Amino acid sequence: MTRVAIIGAGPSGMAQLRAFQSAQQKGIDIPEIICFEKQSDWGGQWNYTWRTGLDQHGEPVHSSMYRYLWSNGPKEALEFADYSFDEHFGKPIGSYPPREVLWDYIKGRVEKANVRHWVRFNTAVRHIEFDETTQQFTVTVHDYEKDAVYSEIFDYVVVASGHFSTPKVPEYDGFRTFGGRILHAHDFRDALEFKDKTVLVVGSSYSAEDIGSQCYKYGAKQIISCYRSTPMDYTWPKNWSERPALLRVDQTHAYFADGSSARVDAIILCTGYLHYFPFMQEQLRLKTDNRLYPLGLYKGVVWEKNNKLFYLGMQDQWYTFNMFDAQAWYARDVILGKIELPVHDEMSAHTQHWHDAEKNITEVPDMYKFQGDYILELIEATDYPTFDIEAMRLIFMEWKHHKKENIMTFRDHIYKSAITGTMAAPHHTTWINARDDSLEAYLQMSEEECKKVG
Ligand code: FAD
Ligand code: NAP
Repeated sequence: MTRVAIIGAGPSGMAQLRAFQSAQQKGIDIPEIICFEKQSDWGGQWNYTWRTGLDQHGEPVHSSMYRYLWSNGPKEALEFADYSFDEHFGKPIGSYPPREVLWDYIKGRVEKANVRHWVRFNTAVRHIEFDETTQQFTVTVHDYEKDAVYSEIFDYVVVASGHFSTPKVPEYDGFRTFGGRILHAHDFRDALEFKDKTVLVVGSSYSAEDIGSQCYKYGAKQIISCYRSTPMDYTWPKNWSERPALLRVDQTHAYFADGSSARVDAIILCTGYLHYFPFMQEQLRLKTDNRLYPLGLYKGVVWEKNNKLFYLGMQDQWYTFNMFDAQAWYARDVILGKIELPVHDEMSAHTQHWHDAEKNITEVPDMYKFQGDYILELIEATDYPTFDIEAMRLIFMEWKHHKKENIMTFRDHIYKSAITGTMAAPHHTTWINARDDSLEAYLQMSEEECKKVG
């Protein structure tokens, strides 16, 4: 029987599991599917851990998420086309749920699909190599439950191991002797640690914005963020200033490119992540930075040099869960022989075309359009339910506008689902006042709702 290995059971790997199960549900013969997941549960980044550094087995900790993390984009822009929020929660909820609520949502679909037995948990993939003679892969893994290393043979490999786990850590002059704590966003777990402290946040992307906001919400004395190329440029609260590049630090102070300096207690490096696949044979290893259209992957998914290998979710992400679905359905149909691939040079030319188009993007809204068009191209080739991508693009536009309006209240806005047409319900507490991010607290009814149902 044909065998498919999926590496990782995060949202991308779970999308691949669901893609195969949905074909099976329609009576199509599917290969044997085995998903290797190094953590003890599925959900990838959304499976929070208090740990930092190495886990109990000595594996690098995967999740970079932290306590009190809420979605930074509207849930309406990441909704599955085949499993709506309405179906999962049975009632409208807010548009920016906390981590545990979204984790519950992504788990709901694969629990319904009953595919957990396809996953081997606590099993880290150590090495993958391809044999040109047999045209098969050898996948070597470490099963931590049995403390056994073993290898199995597969016809196809889908790499869905994520790319926001291996921190990119720059060093600045003076770091060796700085008197406070220096950490990367990957190791940030709880903003309360920085209550009453002056925190320097290095970087100007989503981690910088959100970790700074967390520190503000949970009582930091002062936040200073600094950018290398582009400022975030929001209207910050009074105790948050944005400065140009960090040049150096001494034991107590940070010095910036505009000649200013400030005393800081801690430095949080929100400087991004590396695409890191230490388990891949060199000629199979994807090498890219965080971009919308990496080279080497036809349709952003198929490894051009060996069409039995696929990478999911390797793009910079505006869309997430529904983009991973579009990719997983596409990979599935290549594996099932439903999609015929063009010859190598044609695939490379197609990728190069998209890659070049990305380079010409100068405005952020064009990125929403670009990634939306990419998703559409994928879903047109499969039976993944099509959805109103234009409506989602407009939601991103509103989101951008709401953030500009007020970076501390944008999460209080609500949007209409592009899948079901349901309008989200305002959350019972504003984000800035909502301290309890548990699923239970989130799903509690507002006073108004309680009154309605008596
Ligand atoms: P991951 O979620 O990273 O999952 C990869 C899986 O592979 C993990 O379970 C990991 O344990 C497993 N794995 C890795 N290596 C191995 C190995 N060698 N052997 C076996 N298993 C392995 N997206 C949003 O849509 N909204 C948000 O609000 C949002 N917030 C985010 C906040 C943070 C701090 C970060 C870092 C990301 C956030 N994202 C958000 C983006 C997030 O990356 C995606 O939502 C999604 O988790 C990506 O799914 P994935 O399956 O591709 O990768
Ligand atoms: P990112 O988007 O790749 O951004 C990296 C940032 O680091 C950029 O601002 C970059 O600046 C800067 N940088 C890189 N190297 C640097 C250096 N040597 N010195 C100074 N600055 C440097 O990474 P990210 O912000 O960690 O986001 C990763 C993912 O996590 C995103 O998908 C995001 O949506 C997600 N996330 C979500 C939440 C949430 O609220 N739910 C929170 C955090 C993160 P340049 O622009 O100059 O390159």
